[in-house]
Amino acid sequence: MTGWISNAKRRWFPERQILLRQGGEVRYLALSSTRQLAGVAIALVGGVGIGALFAVLSVQTINLGLQDHRIAGLEAATAEMSIALKDSAGTMAARQERLAATEAKLAATENRLDWYRSQAAVDIKRLEAALGSTGIDFESLVPAAAGQAAARDQALPTAPLGADGSTTGAPFMAELAGGLGVPPRSTVPASPVRWSGLRELARSVPLARPTDRGWISSRYGRRRDPFKKRRVRHSGLDISAPRGTPIYATAPGRVTKAGWNGPYGRFVEIDHGFGFKTRYGHLKKLRVKRGQQVDYRHTIGTMGSSGRSSGTHLHYEVVYQGKTQDPAKFIEAGYYVFQERR
Ligand SMILES: [Zn+2]
Repeated sequence: MTGWISNAKRRWFPERQILLRQGGEVRYLALSSTRQLAGVAIALVGGVGIGALFAVLSVQTINLGLQDHRIAGLEAATAEMSIALKDSAGTMAARQERLAATEAKLAATENRLDWYRSQAAVDIKRLEAALGSTGIDFESLVPAAAGQAAARDQALPTAPLGADGSTTGAPFMAELAGGLGVPPRSTVPASPVRWSGLRELARSVPLARPTDRGWISSRYGRRRDPFKKRRVRHSGLDISAPRGTPIYATAPGRVTKAGWNGPYGRFVEIDHGFGFKTRYGHLKKLRVKRGQQVDYRHTIGTMGSSGRSSGTHLHYEVVYQGKTQDPAKFIEAGYYVFQERR
């Protein structure tokens, strides 16, 4: 065996002499078989080592590639997250805007309620003073009037709410109930029944003038009768104006008489409820019929001199519970209630 290795060594790696020329000198380098073999062995080991190194490097390169891939993935995820964050920031902003809008609406509603409360306080005082000035004991009428107002408001269709929660021409209670859905009961001022009762009375009691023009030619009360030449009680207020001047209903109501009525001539009587009636005499023409429902300021006829009359004028009466009242007091009260009409 040893002999075979020695033979192979001698055959493949015979002793070699390498001639080296170095700066004019010539040298021999003798390479024995053993040295050659060692050289080959070193070369082989070196090669394997380099190969191994390359293998490690390429594995690392693959690893790096994988890491790059992973980083790219993370970056994409980060980008997605930041988009998502931006989106949610947008949503938050929108929500905050909505919240701010709701708060503004709430504040506006509060302001409106404050206004109503203050307005109601003023209204109650003003209406009490005005109705009191007529000499009528109106207190007993307030509950019934409040009931009538509630019944009418319920009969009216609820007005649709606008986009901003406002209503147009809605009944007052519906207006209060609108917007943020605040129950009206909690928002109406201190004495809601009294307030709405007084308002209803102010609406129902004849407090207006029956004509837009004219002058008072005879007051209510005792006066000298121009025909009988003695002091009599004048049951109404005489207003003189040109013939044909329009005559208006002084409050809403139902026509209970429309036609000739002896000394009154062409005559209209309107029932306003709560015990109140108005009467209009000496008309030239009638514009309403018995049983007709009339609104405030409905034209019921024109001024004339029909019946027992000394000249063109309207004889206007206000009746409460069957007794005539001084119409001037009611018109004065009306000036106070409807201040814008003064
Ligand atoms: Zn008269």
